[in-house]
Amino acid sequence: MGAYRSCVGCRSQKERSLLIRFRYPESESGRGAWVCKDSKDCFQMAVSRKGFERALKVSVPKEVLTAWSRDFDDTVEVSSAPSSH
Ligand SMILES: [Zn+2]
Repeated sequence: MGAYRSCVGCRSQKERSLLIRFRYPESESGRGAWVCKDSKDCFQMAVSRKGFERALKVSVPKEVLTAWSRDFDDTVEVSSAPSSH
Protein backbone atom coordinates (compact mmCIF):
# COMPACT_ATOMS: atom_id res chain seq x y z
CA MET A 1 0.00 0.00 0.00
CA GLY A 2 1.74 3.08 -1.22
CA ALA A 3 5.25 2.04 -0.37
CA TYR A 4 6.91 2.69 -3.66
CA ARG A 5 10.61 2.78 -4.26
CA SER A 6 12.72 3.62 -7.26
CA CYS A 7 14.96 1.05 -8.81
CA VAL A 8 18.48 2.46 -8.93
CA GLY A 9 18.97 0.81 -12.29
CA CYS A 10 15.97 1.62 -14.47
CA ARG A 11 14.62 4.30 -12.12
CA SER A 12 11.09 3.04 -12.34
CA GLN A 13 8.94 3.08 -9.25
CA LYS A 14 7.60 -0.16 -7.96
CA GLU A 15 6.16 -1.69 -4.88
CA ARG A 16 8.77 -2.75 -2.40
CA SER A 17 7.79 -6.37 -2.80
CA LEU A 18 8.93 -6.23 -6.40
CA LEU A 19 12.35 -4.95 -5.52
CA ILE A 20 15.40 -6.24 -3.76
CA ARG A 21 17.01 -4.04 -1.17
CA PHE A 22 20.76 -3.76 -0.87
CA ARG A 23 22.42 -2.18 2.08
CA TYR A 24 25.95 -1.01 2.55
CA PRO A 25 27.54 -0.88 4.99
CA GLU A 26 25.48 -3.73 6.35
CA SER A 27 25.70 -2.59 9.92
CA GLU A 28 24.08 0.71 9.23
CA SER A 29 20.35 0.72 9.14
CA GLY A 30 18.44 3.13 7.07
CA ARG A 31 19.79 3.64 3.63
CA GLY A 32 19.05 1.09 1.04
CA ALA A 33 19.34 0.84 -2.67
CA TRP A 34 16.55 -0.91 -4.48
CA VAL A 35 16.77 -2.92 -7.64
CA CYS A 36 14.02 -4.70 -9.55
CA LYS A 37 13.73 -8.28 -8.48
CA ASP A 38 15.15 -10.80 -10.92
CA SER A 39 16.40 -8.06 -13.17
CA LYS A 40 20.04 -8.45 -13.79
CA ASP A 41 19.81 -5.68 -16.34
CA CYS A 42 18.71 -3.27 -13.66
CA PHE A 43 21.54 -4.38 -11.44
CA GLN A 44 24.04 -3.81 -14.20
CA MET A 45 22.57 -0.46 -15.01
CA ALA A 46 22.77 0.49 -11.37
CA VAL A 47 26.42 -0.48 -11.30
CA SER A 48 27.34 1.41 -14.43
CA ARG A 49 25.39 4.49 -13.44
CA LYS A 50 26.78 4.46 -9.94
CA GLY A 51 23.25 4.15 -8.71
CA PHE A 52 24.33 2.37 -5.57
CA GLU A 53 26.83 5.03 -4.65
CA ARG A 54 24.23 7.67 -5.18
CA ALA A 55 21.56 5.92 -3.19
CA LEU A 56 23.79 4.79 -0.35
CA LYS A 57 26.00 7.86 -0.20
CA VAL A 58 29.10 5.73 0.05
CA SER A 59 31.24 4.09 -2.54
CA VAL A 60 30.61 0.41 -2.72
CA PRO A 61 33.62 -1.85 -3.23
CA LYS A 62 33.65 -4.04 -6.27
CA GLU A 63 33.73 -7.17 -4.13
CA VAL A 64 30.49 -6.15 -2.52
CA LEU A 65 28.87 -5.48 -5.86
CA THR A 66 30.05 -8.83 -7.06
CA ALA A 67 28.59 -10.50 -4.00
CA TRP A 68 25.30 -8.73 -4.52
CA SER A 69 25.23 -9.80 -8.11
CA ARG A 70 24.94 -13.37 -6.90
CA ASP A 71 21.41 -12.59 -5.86
CA PHE A 72 20.67 -12.71 -9.54
CA ASP A 73 20.99 -15.64 -11.88
CA ASP A 74 24.47 -15.32 -13.21
CA THR A 75 27.49 -13.43 -12.25
CA VAL A 76 27.26 -9.85 -13.26
CA GLU A 77 30.35 -8.33 -14.65
CA VAL A 78 31.27 -5.40 -12.55
CA SER A 79 33.23 -3.41 -15.03
CA SER A 80 32.56 0.18 -14.17
CA ALA A 81 35.35 0.69 -11.66
CA PRO A 82 38.18 2.20 -13.66
CA SER A 83 40.79 1.89 -10.97
CA SER A 84 43.35 -0.81 -10.63
CA HIS A 85 45.57 0.63 -7.99
ZN1 LIG B 1 14.67 -1.68 -12.47
